[in-house]
Amino acid sequence: SREWHLTARPEGWPKPTDFALREAELPALAPGQVLVRNLYMSVDPYMRGRMNDVKSYVPPFQLDQPMEGGAVGVVIASEAEGLTVGDHVLHGLGWREYAVLDAKHATTIDPDAAPLPKYLGVLGMPGLTAYAGLLRVAAFKEGDTVFVSGAAGAVGSMVGQIAKLKGAARVIGSAGSDEKVKALVEDYGFDAAFNYKNGPVAEQLKQAAPDGIDVYFDNVGGEHLEAAISSLNVHGRIVVCGMIAQYNATEPPAAPRNLALVIGKRLRIEGMLVSDHGDLKQPFIDEVGGWIRDGRMHSQETVANGIDNAVEAFLGLLRGANTGKMVVKL
Ligand code: NDP
Repeated sequence: SREWHLTARPEGWPKPTDFALREAELPALAPGQVLVRNLYMSVDPYMRGRMNDVKSYVPPFQLDQPMEGGAVGVVIASEAEGLTVGDHVLHGLGWREYAVLDAKHATTIDPDAAPLPKYLGVLGMPGLTAYAGLLRVAAFKEGDTVFVSGAAGAVGSMVGQIAKLKGAARVIGSAGSDEKVKALVEDYGFDAAFNYKNGPVAEQLKQAAPDGIDVYFDNVGGEHLEAAISSLNVHGRIVVCGMIAQYNATEPPAAPRNLALVIGKRLRIEGMLVSDHGDLKQPFIDEVGGWIRDGRMHSQETVANGIDNAVEAFLGLLRGANTGKMVVKL
């Protein structure tokens, strides 16, 4: 079985030479364990943080050990009650062709209910992040105007759509290419969108939201966060979900320089971790599953082919090569 190891801690942008695809022996199954043939694995922005040797909410990847991450696969051998050969599961041992894991760390999924990659995206961790972040952390309410950055990505594209489906007055998204901006309006139903590479974010946001915004869902940080603070209305809310603009930075970011506006506008800024919102999983699956079935929720994946291309897919995600969820088909 082949698996990806981190072989050097990246400084700034990761390089292909910071990783190695290595052959590994599979251990024999202990009682309670299953052997899974991974079919899709996820690459996610948070993995960049795990490549640094720093204390955080998830432990760093160890050098010369297999990396981890979301994956879906099929059980091909089982020493566990409740899981049999042929069952499809979601689990946390991606970045490898085969995984041996305790059955209690696997969630059974139905391949007939939705295509497998959806369990890593719209029906999985990024979907729950959008759902919990917007509806609970941002305390979204009908009539709000919502701005989301990283809007054509896995989380952002759902934030905008959930806001629309829940009665937002106006939804604005930013993304890094003109094609993505077009997709946001035409495929995802955003009211307005702009390419942050085409000019200052603050000016483009003001143009797209002349009456200001009530909620900013932050996936990017930096200049985006500063622009949002300027555009937020009184009692506006900011959910800090991610700050991808600085994950590869070697210098501390300068923005936001206008933080004092928080006072007069009585803004609320709150960070979030999806792992705090497991109690919303069922309502999330019920509601989003319904929207997908009705055709009211658009979702797409950018699929890289083969485990050999997994690192390239991860680097592509950091550069914005994806629309919707980036996954690797193994
Ligand atoms: P995406 O699918 O959104 O992929 C990442 C996107 O980030 C790229 O497609 C790229 O799109 C954009 N990007 C990269 N660099 C920059 C930059 N310098 N400025 C602006 N945009 C940039 O990933 P996810 O949906 O999985 O994650 C989105 C965010 O949510 C990330 O910040 C992630 O860390 C965070 N997150 C947080 C969780 C939590 O629990 N707090 C859980 C899950 C995700 P473009 O072409 O538009 O630049």
